[in-house]
Amino acid sequence: MWVRKYVIMGVQGSGKGTQGTLLAKDLEMVQISVGDILRWHIQHHTKLGAQVRRTMAAGELVSDELVESVVRERLDMHDWNYGFVIDGFPRNRRQAEFFLESYDIDGVIHLDLPDEEVRRRVLARRLCSQCSLDYNLIAHRPAVEDRCDVCGGELVRRDDDTEEALANRLRDYHRKTNPVLDLFRRKEFVFSVDAMPDRDAVQQEIRAKLDLPPYRPADDD
Ligand code: AMP
Repeated sequence: MWVRKYVIMGVQGSGKGTQGTLLAKDLEMVQISVGDILRWHIQHHTKLGAQVRRTMAAGELVSDELVESVVRERLDMHDWNYGFVIDGFPRNRRQAEFFLESYDIDGVIHLDLPDEEVRRRVLARRLCSQCSLDYNLIAHRPAVEDRCDVCGGELVRRDDDTEEALANRLRDYHRKTNPVLDLFRRKEFVFSVDAMPDRDAVQQEIRAKLDLPPYRPADDD
């Protein structure tokens, strides 16, 4: 059986969550987002949530030990028969080394986006406070201002989608994540994709670069 293991990398707002979800859903892989797991813990007031809440709201990185144990536990569930797409991990050199020691990877999808566009997208991003559906005031506006189209919940900003937190994240990303890309590049499995075009075009490009079956957008995607 073919098991595919991908990492998707890109700064916040580059669409890694959206692209990872599309890819995983269509190819029956499991999508794993470290950021989503941590946000779940914050929302549910777990002990782990309390540990990471402030760090995350400031747009800083959570400790390596903690994230590594989250990733290990998640992958140890072994619900990924056809593979996984992991986003938001690894974010620095140590995490990359940990990952490469434990798992072989088929490809690293690198979503490339200029900082200016990141800023424009992130500051327009909203999230439903009840069902967590993603909105974007540029590309995916709700029918009624500040209300979720699906459940009517109030749309809010993520705590870390502020100018200040974003500046931290961009700085961190360039400083820590670029060396990770270099490390993966040496192993020759980085596929850089221009994240500027629309969602479907970016997905198409990912499929082409990874030699995967083409993407056929469905109405409910
Ligand atoms: P994301 O949704 O991937 O942008 O992650 C949101 C936040 O979760 C980050 O700003 C960090 O505070 C934390 N986080 C997610 N993944 C990692 C990671 N691999 N290492 C450290 N912190 C992380």
